[in-house]
Amino acid sequence: MVEDNPLSLKLIRVLLEGEGFEVRTAEDAEHARAVLEQFRPRLILMDIQLPGIDGLELTRQLKSDPARRDIPVVAITAYAMKGDEQKARGAGCDGYVTKPVDTRSLAALVRAHLHGPQPEVKHASAGGPGC
Ligand code: MN
Repeated sequence: MVEDNPLSLKLIRVLLEGEGFEVRTAEDAEHARAVLEQFRPRLILMDIQLPGIDGLELTRQLKSDPARRDIPVVAITAYAMKGDEQKARGAGCDGYVTKPVDTRSLAALVRAHLHGPQPEVKHASAGGPGC
């Protein structure tokens, strides 16, 4: 998970670890790239609003990297604004959820993405518009 808000990071880490997932975290794009040098995640939860290089740009970089483009990226954004989902999809994100993240459905969302492309993940709609 890439997230600059320590509380959000901790919440989601605890939640996903409680579900049995191994979680690595990074607070910005630079740290995320360092983590990715040593660890290949099965999924990336990507906060869009990051200091410096934002989540959209980091996603574009990952999706243009042949070694990493197959890793699903689920965008997480505080802005539930019209056009945000399109922006996330345009950057290459495979899914989209809005903050506050629905803690009841997050693990199911993660599992769904681990099982291949999910063009219509219904779980995500609980936390915001569309997906
Ligand atoms: Mn943020």
